[in-house]
Amino acid sequence: MSDMETQREAVLAALDNVATRLADEKSYLTDLDSQIGDADHGTNMERGFGKAAEKSDEFAEMDPHEIVKNIGTTLISNVGGASGPLYGGSIMFSSQELEGGITAETSVAFAETYLEKVKDRGGAQVGSKTMVDALTPAVHTYKKSIEQDDLPPLTALAKAVDAAERGVEFTVPIKALKGRASFLDWRSVGHQDPGATSTLFIMEELLKTAEEYLEGDAERDAHAETAVERDQ
Ligand code: ADP
Ligand code: MG
Repeated sequence: MSDMETQREAVLAALDNVATRLADEKSYLTDLDSQIGDADHGTNMERGFGKAAEKSDEFAEMDPHEIVKNIGTTLISNVGGASGPLYGGSIMFSSQELEGGITAETSVAFAETYLEKVKDRGGAQVGSKTMVDALTPAVHTYKKSIEQDDLPPLTALAKAVDAAERGVEFTVPIKALKGRASFLDWRSVGHQDPGATSTLFIMEELLKTAEEYLEGDAERDAHAETAVERDQ
């Protein structure tokens, strides 16, 4: 992406879009969490990103990587439960990959470091029925699309969002091995993971924001156009 000023504007626009989307999805995410958790995921995500969005004026003078870092610290101090430190700590840590500015290369490094940090902190793997199930295919798809297939970042991101959506669907039939849902053992089967779902929503908003700032094809595949089943 071009100059620092545009990157800063894009990061702030992404934050605003994410905060608005999570506020809109608050009841849905909380409903998912009520089925296999403690019914607070929607409130947690809305509060955390809402607080970060309220700080936009404070962030307006910062470099893009500093804004991302501050979003992370804001999440850590405002979101309790498992998701606060997982989202916040991992965003904060991986923000250093963006120090040189946001490019195709640094965005891949950011995504990879973020995934590694979530896995380190939470100890979940693919198949544990957590946000890692949405993130892992998304990050691998993004990296491959850019590094091997030489696709423009916007197209790569659209493919990554499709992969995240399939990852969310994958959480439904499996048994939770990490987090609160794991206390339910086999009774967690048949329910969609809330954290994987919020990860997808955040990625959809990053894609929507990137469409305004990047050239390329952001079309998602036909399968992905039908929104994730809402099993309420
Ligand atoms: P809590 O479970 O503490 O109430 P939230 O409801 O905000 O926190 O977040 C729940 C989500 O956090 C889960 O749906 C899952 O995706 C994610 N999660 C929980 N534990 C882990 C973990 N150990 N590793 C990765 N993700 C996790
Ligand atoms: Mg919860």
